[in-house]
Amino acid sequence: MTTPQSLPLAGKRAVVTGASRGIGRSIALALANAGADVAVTARTKAELDELADEIARMGRQAIAIACDVTNQRQVQTDLASRVLGAWRGIDILVNNAGASGSAKFLGHDDELWHRMLDINLTSVYYVTKAFVPAMVAQRSGRIITIASIAARTGATYIAAYAASKHGVLGLMRALAVELNPSNITVNCVCPGYVDTPMTDRSIANVAAKTGMGEQQAREALEKMSPQGRLVQPEEVARIAVFLTDPASASITGQAINVDGGSVMS
Ligand code: NDP
Repeated sequence: MTTPQSLPLAGKRAVVTGASRGIGRSIALALANAGADVAVTARTKAELDELADEIARMGRQAIAIACDVTNQRQVQTDLASRVLGAWRGIDILVNNAGASGSAKFLGHDDELWHRMLDINLTSVYYVTKAFVPAMVAQRSGRIITIASIAARTGATYIAAYAASKHGVLGLMRALAVELNPSNITVNCVCPGYVDTPMTDRSIANVAAKTGMGEQQAREALEKMSPQGRLVQPEEVARIAVFLTDPASASITGQAINVDGGSVMS
């Protein structure tokens, strides 16, 4: 099956981190649906293989690579070398892999601090550093990072998560300026609570800590959005794909909130 040239991303080569489930999975499928070939990565190979099969059934090329993005050697050797070796370049990088964690700042666990910065900030530095030279060499590229509404505002018990997400937004804004002459755009998408396994874990955590039932804990998170609902992963994917579209070439250095209007800056 060949990719119809009328599709907006026909012939484009994309990498999506954290693609095995949740938002990353939706983004990988949406990119493939728009015509892109997609390399998908996360630590759990079985889920990636299933996704790669699904992308291949859509008529696109798919590469599934197990890689811990907090490990720079794996990012260079297992991920970047293999993708760039196979495709000789890269057009779209989606930094999506991440994790959440919460704790009161009084008595804050240092391990949580380092884990949040490693997975949400340093890993993005490693992955972006590994792929940017290929984009600079070809003088084109799109980098999209899934940050969070926690990159735009603070809230109780998320000091480490908010610091990591504010940090990744700063990294992306700096790169937007530095890479503009190479025709590379760099943007963030900032979701509120999204209906994914990560949020399921947050709900279980809230329920365990407060004694609420899980349904009540879910409703408490839903009420944090003025729309009274969780964002769907496909809504985040749609914005990520929009930022890869040829028509979005002048959008760079931006952070787009997808949160039902809870934060307006
Ligand atoms: P999920 O927990 O549902 O999925 C996370 C993905 O990242 C999985 O594919 C996981 O696969 C992968 N991953 C986690 N750690 C690593 C690692 N060290 N190396 C490689 N891959 C890893 O999360 P979501 O889909 O909900 O979240 C995706 C992104 O969106 C994150 O950056 C998150 O911070 C952000 N976000 C999420 C929100 C939400 O409400 N869900 C709200 C705002 C932002 P595996 O475990 O197999 O490695």
